[in-house]
Amino acid sequence: MKVFKFGGASIKDADSFRNVASIIENFRGEQIVLIVSALGKTTNALEKITQAYFEGKENAGDLLNQLRDHHFNILKELFANQDDEIFDEVNNTFVEIDWILEEPAAEKYDYLYDQIVSIGEMVSTKMLAAFLNYKNVPVKWIDVRDCIATDNNYREGKVNWEITEQKISQKIPQLLNNQFVLTQGFLGGTSENFTTTLGREGSDYSASIFAYSLNAESVTIWKDVAGVLNADPRYFPDAVKIDHLSYHEAIEMTYYGATVIHPKTIKPLQNKDIPLYVKCFLDYKNEGTVITSECDVSKLPPVLVHKQNQILISITPKDFSFIAEDNLSHIFSVFSTAGVKISLMQNSAVSFSVCADLNEKIAPLIIALKNSYTTLVNENLDLLTIRHYTQDVIDKYAAGKNIFLEQKSRHTVQLVMKMN
Ligand code: ADP
Ligand code: ASP
Ligand code: MG
Repeated sequence: MKVFKFGGASIKDADSFRNVASIIENFRGEQIVLIVSALGKTTNALEKITQAYFEGKENAGDLLNQLRDHHFNILKELFANQDDEIFDEVNNTFVEIDWILEEPAAEKYDYLYDQIVSIGEMVSTKMLAAFLNYKNVPVKWIDVRDCIATDNNYREGKVNWEITEQKISQKIPQLLNNQFVLTQGFLGGTSENFTTTLGREGSDYSASIFAYSLNAESVTIWKDVAGVLNADPRYFPDAVKIDHLSYHEAIEMTYYGATVIHPKTIKPLQNKDIPLYVKCFLDYKNEGTVITSECDVSKLPPVLVHKQNQILISITPKDFSFIAEDNLSHIFSVFSTAGVKISLMQNSAVSFSVCADLNEKIAPLIIALKNSYTTLVNENLDLLTIRHYTQDVIDKYAAGKNIFLEQKSRHTVQLVMKMN
């Protein structure tokens, strides 16, 4: 039994639906669970709708209509019969958002977010399942909220592994007779049957949860790139494909911010020694990258991870005390309460410097620090992490940049810099 995951980029328009169907067709007769994300940039669009609704803006309905039309336009291209029941099904699924928008927002933002944003995956999976069946590729659609059990930490649902493993292993294998099983990535359900999401880009993680629970033979995530490259090709056009990576190297890369795989994906696979393949949906026969327990680290090229929109905060105690365990533990608790994730940290005698993503959580963090600390903030910075660095590679990427902070260990160097 295998698990395949298809992300938003693989089903962004009618042609890509056809392409995904042609890939899946090749695996007829195999036992495969298909995990599928929302179409293209649908999740971003649904986030905007949620925000507009929550802020009481009038355009939420218009934004929803645009998104709905986009889905229907794709359906019209895919199905010859415009009365196919999938049109009604998609309509009925979007109506759930219409109902929410009819009433003023009375619930907490994160809860509303999950109820609205999850519709993206509910709709996309119904569309792909219907299209595959229409193409005579038998598929059973299932609701992942009956499979992945989470707590009610909306927008970052924490998986209850025991219940999830039980539900998936009881429900799925018997369905895999002469048909594929297709379900939603990114979503889970609480014990009270409310919908949760697992964190942005979380569908890779969903695939890993299924593979773990089913003791799958392998997971394949289908991407728009040849595999895992040594850098994001959007920023590093000369990036090269890595044929073989270890779980450890993959975890390090994703921890530092490589967005090709969701960071939570690897660990469950590592625990059961399940290989993870990253392959290109535009060239499905190509080998891609395989991630297993061991790899020859000496053969790895330098691996670059570039994060933009970083902020460097220097924190100095107002009472002139040294940076020591007591104020460090206080500073960490303030970060944890504000939900700010630290990308890099360094301390001197009287100040503690932290690099983090600049987002909406930073302003409340700075306010919370103000009572006890003076803060100095630098914005518009980039964080470049290089694993398996050489001095030549550091020189190449640091040349002409204003370096604010550099941190080196045996395998990894991190540079906080201004691009100029
Ligand atoms: P999905 O369709 O599954 O959501 P993503 O767009 O999230 O796919 O992930 C694929 C993208 O990840 C690629 O288009 C690429 O720009 C980016 N990426 C970032 N780092 C890497 C890397 N090291 N190797 C390959 N792709 C990378
Ligand atoms: N659709 C979700 C997102 O864009 C989950 C995913 O694609 O992995 O974040
Ligand atoms: Mg994605």
